Amino acid sequence: MVLDDKNGCSMSKILVTGGAGYIGTHTLISLHEAGYEFIVYDNLCNSSQEALKRVEKIIGEDIEFIKGDTRDKKTLQKLFQNHDIGSVIHFAGLKAVGESVQKPLEYYDNNINGTLVLLEVMKEYNCKKILFSSSATVYGDPHATPITEDFPLNTTNPYGRTKLFIEEILRDLYVSDDEFEIVILRYFNPVGAHESGMIGEDPNGIPNNLMPFISQVAVGKREYLSIFGGDYDTHDGTGVRDYIHVVDLALAHVKALDYINSRAFNIQHSTFNIGTGEGYSVLDIVKAYKKASQKEIPYKIVKRRAGDIAKCFANPNLAKEILGWKATKTIEQMCLDSWRWQSDNPNGYKK
Ligand code: NAD
Ligand code: UDP
Repeated sequence: MVLDDKNGCSMSKILVTGGAGYIGTHTLISLHEAGYEFIVYDNLCNSSQEALKRVEKIIGEDIEFIKGDTRDKKTLQKLFQNHDIGSVIHFAGLKAVGESVQKPLEYYDNNINGTLVLLEVMKEYNCKKILFSSSATVYGDPHATPITEDFPLNTTNPYGRTKLFIEEILRDLYVSDDEFEIVILRYFNPVGAHESGMIGEDPNGIPNNLMPFISQVAVGKREYLSIFGGDYDTHDGTGVRDYIHVVDLALAHVKALDYINSRAFNIQHSTFNIGTGEGYSVLDIVKAYKKASQKEIPYKIVKRRAGDIAKCFANPNLAKEILGWKATKTIEQMCLDSWRWQSDNPNGYKK
């Protein structure tokens, strides 16, 4: 138990579902640095305990970890019974767009059922603070950029729909019980890694996302990058996204927790874009990565990927105004940190 030096009261713990994953592990470090105590709950379906061991090395402390699934009500109930959980950061979920098209039922079950069970148990144990990982994918193909939080929501694949439905579920939950304090963070494109090079993104199989794919080309695991489309209406014809350093993203969670725990919390301001506000094209990223890694990144421009959009970047002003959070890391740092992780760990967490 930790004493909260502001009011001398004992401080409860944060339950971090999906805490062994890419964004989760980085967030654990930021939580630790900010003095928050946490318990990790993860079924390890897309991560490994090695990632948590590395976080333990970085923070110099053991991590309380419970292996379990968000759909497993009994295990969650036991967890809430045995620990004083004051709030939840809910990362757990499946996240691959393409896979969600192939396996929609698995995605709806894991992401939506998992969240429903978690919320039921939270309610049962009177834990009513939750921070949810949403995604810019809920904006679909935006009519303009930069995107503000009040843009229409519309998404094109089962993964995106799980995010959108969970957002709606959370809004309905609040309507039914206004003691719930809910923050929804809509992440743009998380990339990069912790500066130690000890933790980072470790995708299964062939990476779907741009940065891990480029990293594997740079390290010699893949021959070349296929750039999906060179004829978009962007400055160089390739797709433009808002890449955000995962450590900046992790800090946004700390700021959001501070906000949810403060008197300033207002449900009218509870959904935030978490991006830099800058758009970079695929070719911009290739160039920056080449500079950071000092490696050639061979590429071929191929046809557009189904479902892709030309441009997507955030207006992150609301997060700055309300949470006091702003991204600070540059595209150069994102590429350097990503390269350090990749070159130190060519096989990810596998030995
Ligand atoms: P990740 O796959 O690395 O981490 C998710 C973690 O959740 C994994 O450790 C996995 O084992 C665990 N998990 C999955 N289903 C579970 C279940 N039913 N019960 C318990 N644990 C379960 O993904 P990430 O990149 O760290 O993403 C974290 C969250 O952020 C996800 O909800 C994701 O949809 C969301 N998000 C990610 C991105 C991105 O590009 N990485 C962008 C927007 C939103
Ligand atoms: N992209 C690409 N080749 C790849 C992976 C991605 O050209 O192998 C492009 C993709 O078309 C998009 C950008 O890189 O313009 C970011 O794609 P990513 O899948 O990382 O994120 P998202 O599409 O979800 O924004």
